Amino acid sequence: MKVVVLVGGVGGARFLMGVKAALGLPAVGAPDGESTHEVVAVVNTGDDVWMHGLRICPDLDTCMYTLGGGIDTERGWGRAGESWTVKEELAAYGADPTWFGLGDRDIATHLVRSRMLRAGYPLSAVTEALCDRWRPGVRLLPMTDDRAETHVVVDDPETGERRAIHFQEWWVRHRAGLPAHAIVPVGAEEAKPAPGVVEAIASADAVLFAPSNPVVSVGTILAVPGVRQALRETPASVVGLSPIIADRPLRGMADACLDAIGVATTAEAVGRHYGSRKEGGVLDGWLVHEGDSADVPGVTVRAVPLLMSDVDATAEMARDALRLAGVWRD
Ligand code: GDP
Ligand code: CA
Repeated sequence: MKVVVLVGGVGGARFLMGVKAALGLPAVGAPDGESTHEVVAVVNTGDDVWMHGLRICPDLDTCMYTLGGGIDTERGWGRAGESWTVKEELAAYGADPTWFGLGDRDIATHLVRSRMLRAGYPLSAVTEALCDRWRPGVRLLPMTDDRAETHVVVDDPETGERRAIHFQEWWVRHRAGLPAHAIVPVGAEEAKPAPGVVEAIASADAVLFAPSNPVVSVGTILAVPGVRQALRETPASVVGLSPIIADRPLRGMADACLDAIGVATTAEAVGRHYGSRKEGGVLDGWLVHEGDSADVPGVTVRAVPLLMSDVDATAEMARDALRLAGVWRD
């Protein structure tokens, strides 16, 4: 079976572990032998940013480290056993930005990536090279090799002037606390899907949306021209899982993102925002958490447990999604 999953960072990476486990693959790492199952993750790169001359890809790295066994499981991002010497030294120079968590081990990843990008390799090839080390057991595809970075339109807290800041500055520095007037994937309009993205969706047995941020993770992937069309044309069913449970995001600040695009923080509103494939949207099925309900015209909705409390629970979520997609036989 070939399963394609649209993912962001932490929520996406956790869900991918469940998809792998559901298919009998090791949740972390690659299988020893050949497997008849293939998981392809199309990863948001709208969070990517240049800092200190380094190209940082938070969602790709969160997926790579999580699935490759290198993640700091407490924090949910960055490397296990991390130290922060370079960050302290940068701060001593007063080198901006000082608010971004850049660990020493993590910096090695960014150094290798930045060097390869400067040598002319596309991000998809760089990611493949980095995955030679981590062996995540899924194919990690950046949504695009082009630069498409999410920006957030806010009122500058010092000057009061309206301006766009990089998503990372809004999310990490301001903890999404500055009211967002708009969230804009700058450059997405001219971006092309990375090699393999459209092909993977077209040849999938099922396409799943992880319970990732609907605006700045899945939404950004959908903003790359060609992705929506691929989702509409694939013979596979497309099933999403709600990141909103009991009218709240489970972790993080997705509600601030939904507010900015005028979508209510409910599983129903997010399902309607994605919309039915029959009506110009992208979904056939929508999973909401048990106890929640949603009426999404043209979309089959089921309520099942959606808490990724451990790998077993997450694997059951993946199986429920594959059941709804019509490709799982018990
Ligand atoms: P990020 O890029 O690191 O912010 O991660 P994602 O976009 O992939 O995932 C963030 C989303 O995951 C948040 O909006 C959360 O609501 C959602 N989330 C986190 N844990 C869970 C969980 O256990 N169940 C569900 N349904 N959603 C979750
Ligand atoms: Ca992210």
